[in-house]
Amino acid sequence: MIIKAKQNITEKELLNLKEYFTSKGFQIADASGEAVKVFGILGDTSFLSESDIYNIPGVASVTRIQAPYKKASKEFHPEPTIIDVNGVKIGGNNFTVIAGPCSVESKEQIVSIANDVKKSGATILRGGAFKPRTSPYSFQGLELEGLELLKEARKETGLPIITEIMSEDMIPEFVKNVDIIQVGARNMQNFHLLKALGRTNKPILLKRGLSATIEEWLMAAEYIMSEGNDKVILCERGIRTFEKYTRNTLDISAVLAIKELSHLPVFIDPSHSGGKWQMVEGLSQAAIAVGADGIIVEVHNDPEHALSDGAQSLKPERFDNMMKNLRKIAPIVGKKM
Ligand code: PEP
Ligand code: MN
Repeated sequence: MIIKAKQNITEKELLNLKEYFTSKGFQIADASGEAVKVFGILGDTSFLSESDIYNIPGVASVTRIQAPYKKASKEFHPEPTIIDVNGVKIGGNNFTVIAGPCSVESKEQIVSIANDVKKSGATILRGGAFKPRTSPYSFQGLELEGLELLKEARKETGLPIITEIMSEDMIPEFVKNVDIIQVGARNMQNFHLLKALGRTNKPILLKRGLSATIEEWLMAAEYIMSEGNDKVILCERGIRTFEKYTRNTLDISAVLAIKELSHLPVFIDPSHSGGKWQMVEGLSQAAIAVGADGIIVEVHNDPEHALSDGAQSLKPERFDNMMKNLRKIAPIVGKKM
């Protein structure tokens, strides 16, 4: 439920208004802008009477949020959310490119790729340290050593780092060491993990689950936001369909749906969706053209020998070329990159 207060509401009336809800056990989220005082009332408001609320002095309007997600909804927060990651702005009219290998493999590998992607214009470095592989016999990531190597690459290049978290017990380590925490497709509905991440104030990149609907995905974002962390970046990474030619089916329309429903920034992952490096540039062009706020792309200096996802990884030269082309499209669609 959204309560708009009158322009001339007094301090005393405001306190009284808030007290009305807190005394009933509701949480209040302040969404006030410069000119208006607006509050979101969080909880099951279905039994509250609108006419009772209109009778509280200072109330201008009462609106029920129809969507099951509240803080993530555009009704609650009409302006696009912009998230600052060590000076890199995500959302609004920015198009942000996150690039790097699927997995961190060695110091030489991650530092060399970090330098390459930075030169081409990427502003955030990706690299998996804890890998959610389909087979327990596949490379599982360098784990804590991988985090250390990412930090070295950050020190060398100044690029903020993002990496995937798999379990709640690693949260303190991630909060201390990384700039954005990635929640992978397979953990999108790990609600305990999401809630615990909601109690941090790190930006979270939340990938869409392999078979999740857009509403389920926004409800997952709501789990994080309901605990107080508003810094959620959504990422469409392809969904499971009957099609086998591509690794997943990129749901490009999800970007338009999210823009309609939510204020959160939304990214596209052209690597895990197509699953083939030959498709990455085309899908990235589609991402910027459709209005995504950025992409997260896999780049490897030796894809043939990559320990994971080599087939979908771009070589640095191809990434560089792709960036040049994206920069030509950006001004046409009103994006800065
Ligand atoms: C990844 O980004 O390397 C990854 C495992 O992605 P997803 O969770 O989308 O499969
Ligand atoms: Mn990968």
